[in-house]
Amino acid sequence: QKHDHKPLAKRWDNHMTPEALSRTGNSLKKAAKYLSQPGLISLGGGLPSSEYFPFNSLSLNVPVPPHFASPTAPSPQNPTTTSGTGTDTSSTPSSTDTTPTTTTLHAGKHDLTASHSLYDLATALNYAQGSGSAQLLRFATEHTERVHNPPYADWRTTLSVGSTSALDMLFRMLVRRGEAVLSEAYTFATAVETAAPLGVRVFGVGVDGEGMVAGALEGVLRDWGRQHGWEAVPRPKVLYTVPTGQNPTGATQGEGRRREIYEVARKYDLVVIEDEPYYFLQMEPYRGAGGAGAGQGQGRQQGRTAPLTHAEFLASLVPSLLSMDVDGRVVRLDSFSKVVSPGARVGWVTGSEQLVTAYMKHADVSTQSPSGVSQLVLWKLLDEYWGHAGFLDWLIFLRAEYTRRRDVMLRACERYLPREVVSWEPPMAGMFHWMRIDYPKHPSYPAKSIQELEEEIWLAGIEAGALVMRGSWFYADKTAPHDTMFFRATYAAVPADRLQEAIRRFGDALRVSFGLEV
Ligand code: PMP
Ligand code: PLP
Repeated sequence: QKHDHKPLAKRWDNHMTPEALSRTGNSLKKAAKYLSQPGLISLGGGLPSSEYFPFNSLSLNVPVPPHFASPTAPSPQNPTTTSGTGTDTSSTPSSTDTTPTTTTLHAGKHDLTASHSLYDLATALNYAQGSGSAQLLRFATEHTERVHNPPYADWRTTLSVGSTSALDMLFRMLVRRGEAVLSEAYTFATAVETAAPLGVRVFGVGVDGEGMVAGALEGVLRDWGRQHGWEAVPRPKVLYTVPTGQNPTGATQGEGRRREIYEVARKYDLVVIEDEPYYFLQMEPYRGAGGAGAGQGQGRQQGRTAPLTHAEFLASLVPSLLSMDVDGRVVRLDSFSKVVSPGARVGWVTGSEQLVTAYMKHADVSTQSPSGVSQLVLWKLLDEYWGHAGFLDWLIFLRAEYTRRRDVMLRACERYLPREVVSWEPPMAGMFHWMRIDYPKHPSYPAKSIQELEEEIWLAGIEAGALVMRGSWFYADKTAPHDTMFFRATYAAVPADRLQEAIRRFGDALRVSFGLEV
């Protein structure tokens, strides 16, 4: 990597907790570096012999790039997938189109020694370093360089067992008991629940349609100590933010907003945890009611913009905070959860060498590497078979799929929700639709509190057969006064017809609750 012209990251000793600073690493794993010495016979590591791994080979049936079949599109784009029976490819059964739609990948136990592959079961199923297998880590690092190209020299990537775990480990690394982190006013509930038992409170910063407001962030930091109930808490040194398709608001910070937030982070010397599971779910702009496929949304392909090239796709993404980070103050969390599968439990963490090394020292004594089965399966698909190009094809495919689902959701909302009491902004990324309720129009307001009304509406929705999430579950700070009411609905989980039906039911529940004409 040609980093010579880039500056080095700042040092973060003053931000790190005694726990993180006192980690010395796993002494047993340190011996692994001598394994590269030719002829060395290792009786060192307590690694079981792969002869006793009762797995001889693995076959994986996977889709063929670059043209992936939409699961909801009608045939012939959606043939039934043939299972892996040893044949290598299957193709669309009907029609003249003979493009294979799936193929079967194989992993043997000793593919590495037999020079069949760069990774195998014997390797994957054994112990590895806390940073993950060299094979999958290289893919994640190359991907990070291509997409974000951090503008400082000593950045590093390590694999994680997902961003939930990474966030827990980072809070332990960067925030002491009695301190606080900053986040969007409505935030990923797990972040708050991770922080709370560490004695860490989360202070919510004001948001608008583009997520966190930089001026609000600056104001909070400038006036820190004057916020009611927070007088004893030192000024935060950590910002936790979800810039793209934020959970739960669905908001996406534009490039300008990101640059403003980064400047505030520099001014107040914050370490920024950039949690981006939805980064690649940036969609096409919403074209509004009456657009192509209104009310249907099934298998729409025509009437859409042509698929993007790799270069166009990458250029269409809002630049990450990591890509602007000249100081090495951003720790970026990426995850395969939303773009490959959540059960794989694999993600990656990118930041300054100092912070990532501290992370790996923790991983070495807790999570170790991600599951070897997961790593091998992901590597076979992503690196050995698809490569970066095929992965980009997949991400471009997901973008089209989520755009279609989002459009179904918005059209259903336009059709079924009572606009006099519900409002929303079309989400540009992620999987969440965030609906604002004009609760003062409720006949029981102000006799009933906002919390009581939120619960009443929520239960009415369930009774009508539609489950959404209550906005109050996502308060960064539950003790602060709140004067907004929201519900969160995802368009990721169910097919178009069920999505439309759920929104129709929720609309009916709102009408009944607000005493509107049904
Ligand atoms: N406890 C003891 C006593 C061990 O010897 C080992 C493996 N060396 C472990 C725990 C680690 O187990 P695991 O691979 O399940 O994390
Ligand atoms: N961060 C945010 C903002 C999320 O919304 C989610 C998933 O709901 C996660 C992290 C969890 O990611 P992972 O599956 O990688 O732990």
